[in-house]
Amino acid sequence: MTLSELKRSFLTELTKEYPCEEANSFFGLLTEAYLEMSRLQVALQRDKEISEADLSKFKSAKQRLLEHEPIQHILGETEFFGLKFKVSKDVLVPRPETEELVQWILDDLDSENKQLRLLDIGTGSGCIAISLAKNLPEAEIFAMDISAEALETARLNAANNKVVINLAETDVLKLEKLEQNFNLIVSNPPYVRELEKTDMQPNVIDYEPETALYVKDDDPLIFYRKITGLAQKALVPGGKLYFEINQYLGPETEKLLQEYGFKTELRKDIYGNFRMLKGIK
Ligand code: GLN
Repeated sequence: MTLSELKRSFLTELTKEYPCEEANSFFGLLTEAYLEMSRLQVALQRDKEISEADLSKFKSAKQRLLEHEPIQHILGETEFFGLKFKVSKDVLVPRPETEELVQWILDDLDSENKQLRLLDIGTGSGCIAISLAKNLPEAEIFAMDISAEALETARLNAANNKVVINLAETDVLKLEKLEQNFNLIVSNPPYVRELEKTDMQPNVIDYEPETALYVKDDDPLIFYRKITGLAQKALVPGGKLYFEINQYLGPETEKLLQEYGFKTELRKDIYGNFRMLKGIK
């Protein structure tokens, strides 16, 4: 089978479940991973014969995609803030909105002394902590997560990206206080309410870790209240707290930080949703 025949049959099946553009982008990612061909090479080498071994890789990926498994799980990795991250069922797949949060932090720190102590709560794949470490080589970075499996992935990602971060297995909801002081605390905690599950895609609902995603409808800010309380004590004066937030709870989350005495700024993401919040102690 030639590359163009493979592409045609892949897209014919995938477009039954996905928009055309998304199916096309899956094919591009798979050809890059399995055939090591860029999109341009794919366009130029339409008549290239594909080996049986490679065809069976595409077939298996197609089957998994038809079952709505995330493409990042199939590839085993994804890109975040220009870096490669291993992902698995144990961690949330890093999202583009979270890259915006990292960019906000780095923009704010631009003119400041970089010898900082930073903490990422609920680090998952380590994407926030590792991107910060990569861009702030003088900073000391700490990260915690409730899941030992997630921490294993974060450890691997830190090593692959050649940064050192201090990882700890911790249930933040049970933590009475943080043992050290920090200049900056960041978190993308679980914030999806059970009632919002109906809006979510099967690739998220069926394949991503529940502990990273969901909160109870009657107390959706549980992590924000806990972390803000810990941060109020552990941040140095003028220290900063950054959150990724539930788009429907922007004003409520901002008010919570203000009740703890933080000066706040709420920001929208590229999709126009309230997604990020900063508090200054
Ligand atoms: N933004 C993620 C989603 O919509 C949720 C991330 C989180 O709960 N922290 O799937």
